[in-house]
Amino acid sequence: MCRRWYGCQRSIRKIPKLKAISEFKIIDKYLSNIGTSFNKKNKVLKGVGDDASVISLSNNLIVSTDTSLEDVHFPKGIKPEYAAYRACATALSDLAAMGSHPIAFQLSLSTRENDHKFFSSFKKGLNDFSNDYKVGLTGGDLVRGQYQISVTIIGEQHSNILLRNNCSVGDIVFLSGQLGNGLLGMQNFKKFKRKNNVSSAYLKPKALIDYGKTIAEFASSAIDVSDGFLQDLGHLSKASKVGFELSSSSIPFNSNLSLKQCLNCGDDYQLIFTVPKKNIQSLTKKMKKKKFKMFEIGTSIQTKKIILDGKITSINRGYKHF
Ligand SMILES: [Mg+2]
Repeated sequence: MCRRWYGCQRSIRKIPKLKAISEFKIIDKYLSNIGTSFNKKNKVLKGVGDDASVISLSNNLIVSTDTSLEDVHFPKGIKPEYAAYRACATALSDLAAMGSHPIAFQLSLSTRENDHKFFSSFKKGLNDFSNDYKVGLTGGDLVRGQYQISVTIIGEQHSNILLRNNCSVGDIVFLSGQLGNGLLGMQNFKKFKRKNNVSSAYLKPKALIDYGKTIAEFASSAIDVSDGFLQDLGHLSKASKVGFELSSSSIPFNSNLSLKQCLNCGDDYQLIFTVPKKNIQSLTKKMKKKKFKMFEIGTSIQTKKIILDGKITSINRGYKHF
């Protein structure tokens, strides 16, 4: 059954309790024309306005979907602007981890709200995201129900595709930046209920797209820190069938939290990546030129364990849905 916003009026009328007129007004006024000026450059031939979008690609397509639920991925009471931005940016982070270039996004929104105030704020979040990453909204759907935002990011290969399963024993492990800012930002938001320098890391997280594209040429594997550093490093370990030996003194983290908190909290969206020794000199040169920081935190090893300061570490403390 077609449930898209665009060009499928029959299905929209079937959505219970939302009057068709309200639905169309919401779509026309708040969910259309988001970043359409980027479509031409991104080779989007048809965005909003038909049964599906059409994108012309000459390279491999890279696609990722993330769903954000109220009270799970964002707290009740958060401005729709930040809920929207956060849902899009956290979805986009997966493309950063693949070293890929985003070209469009699609949105599936479920909400019980249908007032102008809500959608006006929601649209601001979409527009801010679209402008920050130069991607247009090319379609999606809208249903009445529990507040949740599902975002599909469409991208294409930039240079090498960064996979999780390509790390070899002896590769050096790097981290793109400080851990813990997401957790501290969330705690700050829950306390002060507004955006400030601390809570912005949680409300408007950054997807490291340019960073990912820069390391893609040199790195052997990568993952973004969404569910917790140790848990996500565990995914790299499992996929590549290697272990990692790390030194806690070299791991950057926010000193307002403990190292343990920072190793296990999610929502940081930093990148963990591994680099073969032969590529490190060239990567360092390129990163300096781009003014990107990178922190060497360890080495990949044959033993399929994560060893921190000489001790085998549990990777099962990060966020889990089930
Ligand atoms: Mg990820």
